[in-house]
Amino acid sequence: MNETCFKVLKKDKKSKARLGLLSTPHGNIQTPSYVFVGTYGKFRHLTPRDIKRTKTQLVIANTFHLWEEALQGLPLQQGQSLLIKKLGLNIPTMTDSGGFQVLSLAFGDKNKIGKFMTKNIAVDNRLRKSVIHSRKNVKITQKGVYFNFKGQKMFLGPELSMKIQKKIGADIIFTFDHITSPLDSFKYNKKAVELTNKWALRCFRTNKNNNQALFGIVQGGIYKSLRIKSAKFIGSLPFDGFGIGGSYTKKQISKILKWVIPYLPEEKPRHLLGVGKVADIFEAVQNGIDTFDCVIPTREARHGRLYTKTRHIDIRKGKYIKDKKVIEKGCACQTCSNKIPRFKIRKLLTNEDRKQNATGQRYCLMHNMWFFNNLLEEIRESIQKDKFTEFKKKFLKNY
Ligand SMILES: [Zn+2]
Repeated sequence: MNETCFKVLKKDKKSKARLGLLSTPHGNIQTPSYVFVGTYGKFRHLTPRDIKRTKTQLVIANTFHLWEEALQGLPLQQGQSLLIKKLGLNIPTMTDSGGFQVLSLAFGDKNKIGKFMTKNIAVDNRLRKSVIHSRKNVKITQKGVYFNFKGQKMFLGPELSMKIQKKIGADIIFTFDHITSPLDSFKYNKKAVELTNKWALRCFRTNKNNNQALFGIVQGGIYKSLRIKSAKFIGSLPFDGFGIGGSYTKKQISKILKWVIPYLPEEKPRHLLGVGKVADIFEAVQNGIDTFDCVIPTREARHGRLYTKTRHIDIRKGKYIKDKKVIEKGCACQTCSNKIPRFKIRKLLTNEDRKQNATGQRYCLMHNMWFFNNLLEEIRESIQKDKFTEFKKKFLKNY
């Protein structure tokens, strides 16, 4: 038994949306909830206090990026996990399995990615960097994945992923899975599902910390029979929760979730991997997803793309050079409530001076993270009041 448990508190009458409470050794998460990506177990330019002020409930870090540090066995205080030490904050955490990075970072050349991703192709960020023609750099076997990284021959498989995740010590960890790209065939996806299922069993049997919850991952690409096969198998195992991975177009999110969700136990939490655009959040929640992670709020903040209830603004544009307004009127984030004007944020963010630029990024991060957390709070309120469908329609009108 681990200390993580989940309770469904309320179900929406018109959709599969649900309110829940996910309890972990480091605190409770009200769901549906956004999960922010702190790749190396931190958020550049934000202090632990800043993170808290954005109302962030749950953070996901990358096993691949913390691998070396985890196995070095840095000195930790009694009961402290590596991830909590790195964040400097007692907050619920997750780690991915490292599978995505192994199959993508290992491919190397990021610039080739664009060729393979049409605008239409959403959404699993873990897949965004997957480049089919570079697969010659990796060898996938029953044991795991052999790959070249920075000139070194490396290996990652289910048992090693579990070992690293145990050392990182997040509250929620994921099984090692075989990701596929949107361009992969049925045959390739079929093999990937079979391997993902075998690896899931091996992860399940591998020793983890008692207080860690293990989530199994459903794959199967855009193929109904494979999705159902994967969901049936993974859903039949006594995992603490379930992740849904894979790549699909925006229109396919709903379809895939409708195939998969009926085979996952109602009382367990469901996490959608790598999804987090505004419209996609509503689709995910409507179909019964409880948590989802995405780099969008933080990555875009660093480039000055700021979210408001009506549109994005690109704060670097010249038109904001004299704009004295706050990012969004009525926004209660630290940046807006301290009345930091747009022109100032623009000036800082376009400044080559590192310190000034960092301050600009901080203002943007604080706003975007708060925006998404606040949106989820509003979504939760709408479910509570049986008004989710109405809220979705009203909100998306402006998007
Ligand atoms: Zn704001």
